[in-house]
Amino acid sequence: MTALVIAEHDNSSLKGATLNTVTAALACGGDVHVLVAGHEAGAAAEAAARIAGVAKVICADSEIFGHGLAENVAAQVVALAGGYSHILFPATASGKNIAPRVAAVLDAGQISEVTKIHGADTFERPIYAGNAIATVQSLTEKNVITVRTTGFDPAAASGGSAIVEQIAPVPASSKSTFVSAELVKSDRPELTAAKIIVSGGRALGSSEKFIEVMTPLADKLGAAIGASRAAVDAGYAANDLQVGQTGKIVAPQLYIAAGISGAIQHLAGMKDSKVIVAINKDPEAPIFSVADYGLEADLFTAVPALVEAL
Ligand code: FAD
Repeated sequence: MTALVIAEHDNSSLKGATLNTVTAALACGGDVHVLVAGHEAGAAAEAAARIAGVAKVICADSEIFGHGLAENVAAQVVALAGGYSHILFPATASGKNIAPRVAAVLDAGQISEVTKIHGADTFERPIYAGNAIATVQSLTEKNVITVRTTGFDPAAASGGSAIVEQIAPVPASSKSTFVSAELVKSDRPELTAAKIIVSGGRALGSSEKFIEVMTPLADKLGAAIGASRAAVDAGYAANDLQVGQTGKIVAPQLYIAAGISGAIQHLAGMKDSKVIVAINKDPEAPIFSVADYGLEADLFTAVPALVEAL
């Protein structure tokens, strides 16, 4: 029984989510291999080989993998799948884009957003926006799994000494080619990897106010900025800042929610944060039910005062 983890990387380094996924793979009970499909991705493959617990790294190096096109990566995973009982992806935008394609081709059951592993075929995953936890048993020979990274500690990034095997890449997909990417450059930590997140809600009222009020707090704390869906839908914050059921799932050391009511869909994305601070002028706001510290106040005075005090 061997598990294959599909590494998430930028060709030169591994994304942190890969480490959590390795921990989940080790819990399946067998050896763990890691696939690095990338372009000039030797450094990422070497980094994968140093992860504690990894027995082998398979490196498929080709320009067809340079931008992580799901069609090409899925074909590479399928080509390797014969040797694996478990194929695990981080439940990130990239992993969630590739995993179902692999599961469909293999006719395997996909187990999504796994948060705990009880054995080779039994897994826990949240349902109903995290309000219930289902224990599911897989009945298919192969298990294609996406791993909710907040459910697993990261494996140690050093200490391993796996072999790196180079393999011939699959042919490029005829269905899609990479055209261009527009990436937002930011010095801030990435939301899902941040230790501190400050999130703003609809109460901010405009994108100008969102930036004016939330940015100084994030700067002071070295935090990533998040937002509720209402703030995103209203155009106050960028789409990729959304936290929640249909946004990003986060579990930082500290989550500060300003002017966010705490709808279940928002809580689904942040309630596993270690310490939650809520600033809201409505004492009945549901966010206070999950908050460790609650401040009943107007955020337009409370947040600048907090920045001043820091
Ligand atoms: P509101 O609910 O309008 O709350 C604003 C809060 O600000 C209120 O509590 C108010 O008391 C407070 N406030 C107002 N003025 C001030 C002030 N001056 N100072 C302090 N406090 C103030 N939502 C998400 O966030 N993420 C998701 O991923 C998500 N996915 C969804 C998926 C589905 C299928 C559905 C149906 C909904 C989803 N939602 C999601 C939307 C969710 O239901 C809520 O509508 C949304 O979270 C509300 O955002 P909000 O708290 O910013 O706004």
